[in-house]
Amino acid sequence: MNIEEFKEEVLKLGISVTDDEIIKLEKYADLLKEWNEKINLTAITEKNEVFLKHFYDSLTLVKITNLSKIDSLCDLGTGAGFPGIVLKIFFPQLKLTLVDALNKRIKFLDIIVKELGLKDVTLVHARAEEYGRDHRECFDVVTARALSSFPVLLEYGIPLLKVNGHLIAMRGLDDSSDGINALKVLNSKINKILEFKLPFEESNRTLVDVIKLEKTNSKYPRRYAEIKKKPL
Ligand code: SAH
Repeated sequence: MNIEEFKEEVLKLGISVTDDEIIKLEKYADLLKEWNEKINLTAITEKNEVFLKHFYDSLTLVKITNLSKIDSLCDLGTGAGFPGIVLKIFFPQLKLTLVDALNKRIKFLDIIVKELGLKDVTLVHARAEEYGRDHRECFDVVTARALSSFPVLLEYGIPLLKVNGHLIAMRGLDDSSDGINALKVLNSKINKILEFKLPFEESNRTLVDVIKLEKTNSKYPRRYAEIKKKPL
């Protein structure tokens, strides 16, 4: 999708795009391409594809949650900053925390934050389950795109949320029973599931909105070895 098509499609999501936002996104796309030659960040670097599969795709989150009313957001396994950085460009009031287990990706994000002049962004080099042990119940929204299976994602994300906070998983469920036990153990429930197609290439997308009902038992998240051996 080219810039004009991006603006049109994003307008359909209820967001009118400013010149300043386009300048930031173009800089982001350029740096992504440049740094991807040195460190592995993404398989997608062609500009029109970046605008569709990274930038537009990240913004589809507004289909399921009103981000202008959100204060703190944590993006787990953010990689090269998706969806977190894109959301921050369009919703600058967000207090954004980006978590990734790979330090080279965090270093790339540090460059992006500085070059784009983004404020109130905290970069964390950690595994989500370790970060979640000592940052409990402090975010309004947790997001994750292409991070892990649904039950594992729930164990990473739910402990970080305030009660009544929302976890938005940018992934489909494997089947109708996917995550049922994890939701129960972590005192949370699915609020909404939204399925749609990405414009132009028509590939399927799913957003799952999970709401946290009560505080999380302090034994979660468990260590990675345990999560892997016995997912909830
Ligand atoms: N969200 C990005 C990246 C997806 S790839 C996107 O959609 O483009 C998954 C990312 O999660 C990688 O950058 C990997 O380093 C990170 N990751 C995997 N397991 C993790 C964990 N337990 N904690 C934090 N980051 C993790």
